[in-house]
Amino acid sequence: MEIESNFIKTIIEDDLANGRVNAVVTRFPPEPNAYLHIGHARAIITNFELAKMFEGKTNLRFDDTNPVKEDASFVEAIKEDIKWLGYQPANIFFGSDYFEKTYELAIRLINKGLAYVCELSQEEMSKYRGTLTEPGKESPYRNRSIADNLTLFQAMREGKYKDGEMTLRAKIDMASPNINMRDPVIYRIIHITHHNTGDKWCIYPMYDFAHPLQDAIEGVTHSLCSLEYVDHRPLYDWFIEKCETEHIPHQYEFGRLNITNTIMSKRYLKQLVDTKVVNGYDDPRMPTLAGLRRRGYTPEAIRDFVLGTGLSRINSTVSNEMLENSLRNDLLGKTKRMHVVSEPIKVTITNYPSDTPEKIVSSCNPDNEDLGERTIYFGKQLYIEKADFLPEAPDKHWRRLSIGLEVRLMHGYFIKCHNVIYDENQEIVEIECTYDPMTKSGSGFKERKPNGTIHFVEATTAVVASFNLFEPLLVDSDSDRPLIDRINPNSWEVRTGFVEPALEEAKPGEKFQFVRNGYFAADYDTTPQKPIFNRIVELKSRFK
Ligand code: ATP
Ligand code: MG
Repeated sequence: MEIESNFIKTIIEDDLANGRVNAVVTRFPPEPNAYLHIGHARAIITNFELAKMFEGKTNLRFDDTNPVKEDASFVEAIKEDIKWLGYQPANIFFGSDYFEKTYELAIRLINKGLAYVCELSQEEMSKYRGTLTEPGKESPYRNRSIADNLTLFQAMREGKYKDGEMTLRAKIDMASPNINMRDPVIYRIIHITHHNTGDKWCIYPMYDFAHPLQDAIEGVTHSLCSLEYVDHRPLYDWFIEKCETEHIPHQYEFGRLNITNTIMSKRYLKQLVDTKVVNGYDDPRMPTLAGLRRRGYTPEAIRDFVLGTGLSRINSTVSNEMLENSLRNDLLGKTKRMHVVSEPIKVTITNYPSDTPEKIVSSCNPDNEDLGERTIYFGKQLYIEKADFLPEAPDKHWRRLSIGLEVRLMHGYFIKCHNVIYDENQEIVEIECTYDPMTKSGSGFKERKPNGTIHFVEATTAVVASFNLFEPLLVDSDSDRPLIDRINPNSWEVRTGFVEPALEEAKPGEKFQFVRNGYFAADYDTTPQKPIFNRIVELKSRFK
C-alpha cells in the first residue's frame, strides 16, 4: 500500500514543479520523554513515505531541549520502534547537537534588538500575557539595552542565576491576537544534567525557538506536524525570518489520529506505567508501538491501517475495528494454523488399537504451502473444546459433537460419541467415542457427511500452555470521566490449556492462528517448558 493523494503530497509536487525545492527533506521529531504510541505511527509513516515517494530523505531528530523529562532509555526505545516499522532514518540528530548554534542565533536576535532578558516570574508573566480578548502588557524589562541583554544572557549561560530567575524572550508584539506571538520565552534556566550534553548547559531553548532552527540547520524542506501547531506557525516563520537562516523550511500541519477506546497521550501512558496499572511500556495492552509489538501486532498491519486512514487537515477518530481488520488481513495468510484446546474435555477413543499415538503429517496453512508441515498426533486419549460437545444436540443446527453424532476431527479421523462419564456432581469427566480408521484426513474419504468439523489435541503429547486474553484498558470510550475511573479491571485474563507439541518450539514473538480461537503470539517470556501466548486479536470481529 502506498500513501494516497493528500494535501501535503500536492504541496510537495507543486514545490518541486515550481523549483521552490530541489529535493524533499522531512524529519520525525519525537521528544524522548516516553515511548511512542500508535498515533506517532501516523507522523512517522507520513514523513517517511512522503520523502520516499519523491526520492527524498527523512531524519530522525530527538527534540531533547527539556532535560527535566527526557531520558536516554527513551531514545533507544524510539529508535527500535522506527526500525520495527520498517524505516531507516537518513540521519539521527539531536536538538542538543545544535545548542551552540541555537545560542548564537539567540545572540543574533539580541543584537538586532529582537530579544531581551526578562526577570518576571512565571506567575507575573502569565498575568502580563493578557487573554484571548485582551492584549497583554509589556514587561518592564522589555527595553533594556542590547549591551545589557548580551551581558545578562551570557551570565545566564554561565550559571549565575537560579532556575526561573530570568528568561530570554523574543520581542514581538504583546498586543498580537495570537498569544504565541506575545513575547514568547525562548530560553529558560534549568540546572539539571542533560542526557546528552551533561552539565555543559544550564540554559535550554524552548521548543518554539529551537524547532524551526533545527529544521533550518538540517535543510528540512517540509516540516510536518500535527494540527495543534497551527497557531505556532507565525512564530516559526518569525524565527526563521529574523534569525536569517540560510535555508528556509516551511511547516505544514495534518490532523492527529485518534482511535476509539485508546489512550493516545504520552502523559496518560506514562501515568499508567508510573502507577503500575500496567507492567511497563511494553505491556501487551498498551497502545505503544512496543506494547503492540509484544502483543503480536505487525508493522505491515499498522502501516496498512495508518495509510488507510488517509491524511487530512482535521483530527480524526478511527474505530479500533479498522486496525483489527488490517491485522487479520495481514495475519491470515502468513500464520501457521495450529491446534490448541483452551477449555478441554477429555475424549477416550475406545476402539483405538494401541497405547502409542500415531503421527499425522499436516499442512501448517493450506493457503500458504511455504509455511510447511508439522506433525500432529492422534491416539486413544484426546482433548477437544468443552464448547464442542453437548450430550444431546440442542437443535438441528448443531454442527458439533453429541451422543450418537459423528464429527470430523481436523487433520484426524471421524469420531462418534457413544457414552458420557459424569462425576458425583453431574459434571462431565470424560466422553467416550469410537473412530473410523477408514476416514483418515486426506485419505480421500468423501462418502459420509459428518456433523461438522472440530479440532483436537492428542492428550499424551499435548503441552500445557498459558494464554493471555486482553480486553481494552479503558471502558466507557465516549466518557469524560477521569482516566483512572475508566480503567477496565478485567483487561487481562489468563487461561491455561493444551497446545499441540509443535508449539513447544514457538519463538518469542512468533505468531500463529489457533484454529477457531484467535491469532496469538508467543510472549517474550515463553519457554518450551512453559509456553505463554498473547491473544493478538479474535478471528472475527465482535462488532455489530
Ligand atoms: P502526546 O501528545 O501523545 O504527548 P506529543 O505530540 O507530545 O505526543 P512528540 O514526541 O512531540 O509527542 O511527537 C512527535 C511527533 O508526533 C509530533 O510531530 C506530533 O505532532 C506527532 N504526533 C503525536 N501524536 C500524534 C497523533 N495522535 N497523530 C498524529 N501525529 C502525532
Ligand atoms: Mg509534542
